[in-house]
Amino acid sequence: MKTENQNFTKHYELIPEDHIIIGWGYPEPDMDADGRIYLIPRFDLTDAFTAGDVSEKELSWLESIVGSGSTRCNHCGKSMKYFALVKNQENSRAHIIGTQCASSMIGYRQEKVDAMHKTTLKARQKIGRVQKKRQAKKDAQAFLDNHKGLERALRVDHYISSDLSIKLQQYGSISEKQIKLAFKIEKQAEERKQKQAEREAQGKSSNHVGEVGDRIKNVKCTGVFSRSFDGNFGTFYIVKFITAQGDTLVYKGSVPYRADQYECELSFTVKAHEEYQGEKQTVIQRVKEIDPKKYDELHILKKERASIK
Ligand SMILES: [Zn+2]
Repeated sequence: MKTENQNFTKHYELIPEDHIIIGWGYPEPDMDADGRIYLIPRFDLTDAFTAGDVSEKELSWLESIVGSGSTRCNHCGKSMKYFALVKNQENSRAHIIGTQCASSMIGYRQEKVDAMHKTTLKARQKIGRVQKKRQAKKDAQAFLDNHKGLERALRVDHYISSDLSIKLQQYGSISEKQIKLAFKIEKQAEERKQKQAEREAQGKSSNHVGEVGDRIKNVKCTGVFSRSFDGNFGTFYIVKFITAQGDTLVYKGSVPYRADQYECELSFTVKAHEEYQGEKQTVIQRVKEIDPKKYDELHILKKERASIK
């Protein structure tokens, strides 16, 4: 083929019937590790392409203009981003023309043009998502820097704290109410720790609750320990609760009650009074958990969730 690179930059009146599409070119955006956007030149050659239609040199020149994101149509002279590579079937001259002008040429495929648009749109959307995430992460750090103590509060081992931490990373900020909640949970966790330490210091130990067989209702407790075992009848849990009076309740059964310093209110039947490593433990069964929705923290969190959406 006798074409030179400059042939791709001239303005011709091409006769559609003489030209067959031998390839498609488009720029696909991508982003590097530093967040800079660049264009990857994409080339799809069609079955009508034969070796030698376009020289290596011309192909690499074409790549450079695809990578630049815009060039001019050889037919109408208009600027274009997506193009068809066409060949004159008489004299084998190649041209690049916009997809609009290519629509009257041999081998035009609308679905190919749509696919190019779709691919680049998807790539742009992906970049948008990554950019948003990076920005949220930056915002989250700035937010923590501006709210003294919040970072520590969100590290408290509590499911609400973890949930808020995830939200902050996701949206770059949390509401004033949520901040208050995080600090409140931190304070509660510290108070619990304090109480526990006091109890230990005073040598107060756990006492048995009720009498074996008693049904005891509405006992405020905190779930503090849980372990699961795989047995013959499925998974089996041992969950330890501490009542507000500091007595230890132990549940053994198939329900995975929460134990992450989770405050709850239980009704139960006393199954046995036991002693384990010097601690009096009340083994409980037929445990009924009072609706956790009534607790402030959960209620507030739920409202916050709704307001974010
Ligand atoms: Zn054109």
